Amino acid sequence: MNTKFVILGCGSSVGVPRIDGHWGKCDKNNKKNIRTRCSAAIIKGSNVILIDTSPDIKGQLIKNKIKNISSVIYTHKHADQTNGLFEIRPFYWKYKKRINIYSDLSTINYLKKTQSYLFKKIPDYKPIVKPHVIKSNFSLGKLNEKIDFKSIIVKHGRINSLGYIFNKTAYLSDCKDLSIIHLNELKNLNFLILDCLKIKSHPTHFNLREALQVINQLKPKKTILTNLHYDLDYKFLLRKLPKNVLPAYDGLSINI
Ligand SMILES: [Zn+2]
Repeated sequence: MNTKFVILGCGSSVGVPRIDGHWGKCDKNNKKNIRTRCSAAIIKGSNVILIDTSPDIKGQLIKNKIKNISSVIYTHKHADQTNGLFEIRPFYWKYKKRINIYSDLSTINYLKKTQSYLFKKIPDYKPIVKPHVIKSNFSLGKLNEKIDFKSIIVKHGRINSLGYIFNKTAYLSDCKDLSIIHLNELKNLNFLILDCLKIKSHPTHFNLREALQVINQLKPKKTILTNLHYDLDYKFLLRKLPKNVLPAYDGLSINI
């Protein structure tokens, strides 16, 4: 069965344009420069797995005509990955079942603390999510719709973030340093979706130079750069990047 991977959002934490209409170096006439915050979807038949729920998740699902979700896996606790959790309430109403969410213990504990009303019963409102702490290997979905995952821990400044590997594809949306993982785990990839925040160096994300170094080292068949800030114009990147490296855009979909 065919598995589809969709970039729902590929922008940095503020998106492009910024809330005050600032486009930075991005050409506002190119629709590929309109970037919502980072989220993605893996779709295999009726098995629809979201990676992160960005603050833009509602618009992202509507735009991509994703009408059902099966589960959510989180990379880390930051607001641009988790602030859309509240938006998935209609799926709970629809299925009359709590939505399964998965991450490491620290992210799950953080979400329980900061959005506690989604996890435990409060007067007049029922909990809508069911949290699960993942192991390094896990699978989601049933029978021929099942997807096998391997999670890896990467450094994202002062915190760790999870990267996910599935179908010879790795999603590493927020990382600065891969030194704590065995790089062999990221060899022989068909697709690498990789953090590339900006041109200048940043304490918690790869910049363009660092992302290209990683690609050189890992040699995936194809790389898609994501978490793009407003100093990285789509066409500028397209001209600058090697042939097998592409800038992401919202709605980009690949068969994996
Ligand atoms: Zn982050």
